[in-house]
Amino acid sequence: MLSDHTYVLAYVGLGSNLLSPVRQVRQAIAELAQLTSSRLLAVSPLYRTPPMGPAGQPDYINAVAAIETRLRPLELLDGLKEIEQAHQRTRGPERWGPRTLDLDLLLFGTEEIHNERLTVPHAGIRERRFVLQPLLDIDALLRLPDGVPVERLLAMLPEETLLPLEEETVSE
Ligand code: ATP
Ligand code: MG
Ligand code: MG
Repeated sequence: MLSDHTYVLAYVGLGSNLLSPVRQVRQAIAELAQLTSSRLLAVSPLYRTPPMGPAGQPDYINAVAAIETRLRPLELLDGLKEIEQAHQRTRGPERWGPRTLDLDLLLFGTEEIHNERLTVPHAGIRERRFVLQPLLDIDALLRLPDGVPVERLLAMLPEETLLPLEEETVSE
């Protein structure tokens, strides 16, 4: 844990496409709010997005949460993995296969981290509209550690619409 006064603003990407994805994501947000030494600051709208990996799997529900935390990056990753496990997350043979819950650490303050377990900013952040759009929803002026505005990254992506879920769907 970091010293008492050192809070870091971290962003976590959420994704689910199995077993009532909206419920999985909403439940995971509640669990993020309970993370030790951390506080949930903001949550983006939920988005329904086509699967990025193998075809033939259901659409995903994606969102991003902002938390303020005194955990170190690997401690936070462990916390995220615990929440995934609580959602019976399993790993199939294929990369980006269907899952009940995926929690990715997108940003950890302005830190750049490269070790065996953790790459931050998340390796896919620049190419994923379903990550960049909700980040921008939370902070329209957000920049990556290298100074590039999230808004500019989003503008560089190929055209593709990303619609927030209707309120009625979210509260179903
Ligand atoms: P992607 O990371 O491309 O979105 P994925 O989320 O499906 O794919 P996982 O199976 O959830 O990948 O994670 C595989 C491993 O990636 C994890 O065990 C973790 O150690 C590692 N990893 C590296 N960087 C990160 C990060 N920023 N957030 C979460 N996991 C990470
Ligand atoms: Mg992922
Ligand atoms: Mg992951």
